[in-house]
Amino acid sequence: MHMRPSSLNSLFSPIETLNGVGSRTSALLKNLCGNKVADLLWHLPSGFIDRRCNISLRNVQDGQLWTGKVRVAEHIPPHTRKQPYRIIVEADGEQLILIFFKTFGDSLCKTFSVDSEKIISGKIEIFNNTLQMPHPDYVVNASSPEQMPLIETIYPLTAGINNKMLNKYVHQALQNTPDLPEWLDEHMVKKEKFLSFKQSLWQAHHPQKFEDLSPNNLSRRRLAYDELLANQLSLAIVRQRMKKQKGHALIGNGRLKQKLSDILPFELTSAQKRVIAEIENDLQSEYRMQRLLQGDVGSGKTVVALITMLCAVECGGQAAIMAPTEILAQQHFESISELCDKIGVKPALLTGNVKGKNRKILLEDLANGKIQILIGTHALFTEDVLFHDLKYVIVDEQHRFGVKQRMQLSQKGNLCDVLVMTATPIPRTLVLTQYGDMEYSKIDELPRGRLPVTTTVMPLTKIHDIVTALQRRLADGSQAYWVCPLVEESEKIDLSAATERFESLQKIFGSAVGLVHGKMKESEKNAVMSEFKNGNIKLLVSTTVIEVGVNVPAATIMIVEHAERFGLAQLHQLRGRIKRGNQASSCVLMYGYPLSDVARQRLNTMKHTEDGFIIAEEDLKLRGGGEILGTRQSGFNNFKIADLSVHADLLQTAYKDAALILQSDPELQSPRGQNLRTLLYLFEQDEAIRTYKAG
Ligand code: ADP
Ligand code: MG
Repeated sequence: MHMRPSSLNSLFSPIETLNGVGSRTSALLKNLCGNKVADLLWHLPSGFIDRRCNISLRNVQDGQLWTGKVRVAEHIPPHTRKQPYRIIVEADGEQLILIFFKTFGDSLCKTFSVDSEKIISGKIEIFNNTLQMPHPDYVVNASSPEQMPLIETIYPLTAGINNKMLNKYVHQALQNTPDLPEWLDEHMVKKEKFLSFKQSLWQAHHPQKFEDLSPNNLSRRRLAYDELLANQLSLAIVRQRMKKQKGHALIGNGRLKQKLSDILPFELTSAQKRVIAEIENDLQSEYRMQRLLQGDVGSGKTVVALITMLCAVECGGQAAIMAPTEILAQQHFESISELCDKIGVKPALLTGNVKGKNRKILLEDLANGKIQILIGTHALFTEDVLFHDLKYVIVDEQHRFGVKQRMQLSQKGNLCDVLVMTATPIPRTLVLTQYGDMEYSKIDELPRGRLPVTTTVMPLTKIHDIVTALQRRLADGSQAYWVCPLVEESEKIDLSAATERFESLQKIFGSAVGLVHGKMKESEKNAVMSEFKNGNIKLLVSTTVIEVGVNVPAATIMIVEHAERFGLAQLHQLRGRIKRGNQASSCVLMYGYPLSDVARQRLNTMKHTEDGFIIAEEDLKLRGGGEILGTRQSGFNNFKIADLSVHADLLQTAYKDAALILQSDPELQSPRGQNLRTLLYLFEQDEAIRTYKAG
């Protein structure tokens, strides 16, 4: 059910309601910008053509764009089909020949009746000393000069939609935009010299000079701010609501925690200690925890997860940890149960593979509370899985999930505390946009004694040298990953590249090579992975399926083929796979051509730093927020106008603005609050709006 303000109805009507948009065009527009009228508003120009011109025909030069008034003198129809239709026009005492190929004379006679006056605009060509203009861009009657677009806005286009069409549609969308009440703080509007929302939109779509196209242009900044404020306000609303929800105060007696620290073979880093304290603080409060734990690969999140789960166990409750894949769930189970066994805590693993009698027993033990820590995939949250008393849920490697899924998940637990763990280094700015509904902890330190990874960047043409070096290393007992190129938008091609490489390496390494890819069944994948883990497979060829969290301590070599096709964050994740032991490890990034400047910079960054946060900031700078994870679907940068590589300052302001707004007007009831509701609708922040509805 929508309770959208009626003032927005025309903007939210289907794009077909515009003049000139039929079903074919609407399908194309849908791919280009969206299926609502409002989507055209966010489709900002990429350039403009300046047709303003005060050059006389006498002085015009070859190739110049010329606009001016002409008198039609004479028509010269073609004699053969190959000849063009020509029309001689006059201005400034000069003659100009308009040239039309494949155009019917009838329509030209109508438009250009002899002796009539026209304003035309188009490109001049000088040929044998005669002035010509093939196919003028615009022709209007001299009596209505206002119809000549002196500055023509240029939009990003798609096949089947030309610029004239798009200008016409956007123009209508702008006309359909009502005067909306100001939702921004009046002091800010004054200080920034912002125009109104509508005026800003109008200006953004009518660039007059080059600077108007910059994302820092005043009108674009205002629109970006509107969008960011809508984003931050909606996250703040969700956060506020979560905070108000009473949960359980988990105050453990510290008995199990002490036992664990007695057997732990290492000392926690001070970053681990700090985040454990932050999490425990939340667990102890009577409100629900919604916290993000960020820590680079190898920073030791698992032990943080375990220690804090013990708190729930000490209180007689249960905890669960959810991993995105079976391989990862299995891995968590192995490392956690090893410690749990020693301190008398009972963990269990539940994945899609646990079936029949085993599953039945497991579910019984879960329901009667015998199992204290449950580890699994999303199978954890199927309907028949009933906990005795679930108090705390940890979601690992969750960067594939968005706010919506998180809300669904936490609704399943009985008001339990939620910790989301991610190994994806996310710049602070992006944390705000993506996890602004959560509190935030960060492990910013790796355990001591880790050896750095040696990273080499080399062209693919040296592949033979790499294979030779690999033969030596594998003979010494090392294990290696070989990651095959990502071919955009085609898993099929990905796969064949990996299969081909697998076959050619097999000729050299024989049965020591294994292959794993995304199209394999989970059980097949697991089988190959466990062969790799136990060392029967020494060289694992794969597509990017190994990206997330796989832990094989003996694997110390990572080879990435066509590394230039991977995003920085992805490369960082891949390299993280070999960064686990205290052994020296090496990463080889092989690149092919063409190598773009950005790709070169990326590889350079990889060579010079291992710090995930530096890499993430660099990534943001190089590519903008859109592709921070190498994929747009991940929920980052679903911004229509804001560009986080430029508008990070606005994001900070919006974050503070949103907090202040809710402080003084938590229900958005004040006049400004009402206007802000319109803003939320405008940018489709339904999540937040539903929160209010639910009461
Ligand atoms: P991640 O954050 O990538 O999940 P893990 O929790 O898997 O990292 O930890 C990586 C490795 O580091 C594990 O073998 C773990 O036992 C070890 N480890 C964790 N914390 C410390 C520490 N403080 N000192 C030494 N080793 C640690
Ligand atoms: Mg991990």
